[in-house]
Amino acid sequence: MTDETKQLSADTLAVRAGQVRSQEGEHSELIFTSSSYVFANAAEAAARFAGDSPGNIYSRFTNPTVRTFEQRLAALECGESCIATSSGMSAILSTFLGLLKAGDHIVSSRSIFGTTVNLLSNILPRYGITTTFVDLTDYEAWKNAIKPETKLLFLETPSNPLTEIADITKLAEIAHDDGKLLIVDNCFCTPVLQLPLKLGADIVIHSATKYLDGQGRCVGGAIVGSDSLLKEHIFPILRTGGVTMSPFNAWVFLKGLETLSIRMQAHCQNAQKIAEWLESQKFVEKVYYPGLESHPQYALAQQQQSGAGGIVSFEVKGGKEAAWNFIDSIKLLSITANLGDTKSTITHPRTTTHHRLTDEQAAKSGIKPGLIRLSVGLEAAIDLINDLDQAS
Ligand SMILES: *Cc1c(COP(=O)(O)O)cnc(C)c1O
Repeated sequence: MTDETKQLSADTLAVRAGQVRSQEGEHSELIFTSSSYVFANAAEAAARFAGDSPGNIYSRFTNPTVRTFEQRLAALECGESCIATSSGMSAILSTFLGLLKAGDHIVSSRSIFGTTVNLLSNILPRYGITTTFVDLTDYEAWKNAIKPETKLLFLETPSNPLTEIADITKLAEIAHDDGKLLIVDNCFCTPVLQLPLKLGADIVIHSATKYLDGQGRCVGGAIVGSDSLLKEHIFPILRTGGVTMSPFNAWVFLKGLETLSIRMQAHCQNAQKIAEWLESQKFVEKVYYPGLESHPQYALAQQQQSGAGGIVSFEVKGGKEAAWNFIDSIKLLSITANLGDTKSTITHPRTTTHHRLTDEQAAKSGIKPGLIRLSVGLEAAIDLINDLDQAS
């Protein structure tokens, strides 16, 4: 980024950053569907392969559309560098493969995306990388879990589905006091609501599948951080492992970034109305939403985030049966586990996203049988509330 673009505000960067016009003078960004690129002569080819001259080589690791998306997201997250990947999971996998080796150790929040738990608990241990899980907001537990072999701390905030909030600045201090890295999966907030790198995190991870696309069309991911971590450690995993984002998906995501800010504000407004309505209902036992004063980390959310987000969870009275009856009576919201879409979705975490947990683990993590998660979309709040009302 030039010094000039550094002074632009985020809304401008979301629309403009990273675009390079071709000789055709197109106004909207192009999709470059070319697997390889032509060199002027043998010497130029040699220089590109040797890394002595920048430019495109092969779309597994260099593609102009993917680069535009990467530069735009890096600008929004206030990071030096971004690597786009084929999915959120491949972003997480590539980060771990790039930064860790056999014998290394991770301290991770217990309340993270289920597939990430599977990666940490069942796959990485086969390669000698182990993880200790701690409660997201128990800072003493984070400190105590750090060992000499620990290389990084990993978390999501707000957590899924209970929207617990961790203090990123405090966790960055805990990590850095001991020379470890802090990695934040910023999927729920996006750079519009929260900037983990500014709060001290070393790397931000995204599932672009969620709000960055925002319309439920493409699967993709991204890693944002310093040049030194990304170019030296993680880029070789992309180049060799081939966890590449397709140019078409990159184009969808980069157009998604252009409307991210107004969409996130609308998601937050709708979610706030629905959370407040739910809190006043007799059939509801408890509501989990960082924008409610009843939320245990309400003050921290106000300070760390510029909005409370689009995910609202609540417990209905009557356990699993009541929750399933409620979901089956819904007419407008979609029964699907995806989130971050313009269309509102409704999920029963205990029997879907969190079905792998034993009853004991579920009880410990607060994933109760009566819990329902909403990803509040962009329909009119009144229509969503009427639908929830008729289902109760
Ligand atoms: C969906 C999700 C992922 C995984 O992303 P994919 O694009 O589905 O691979 C990772 N972290 C969080 C918080 C998610 O919601």
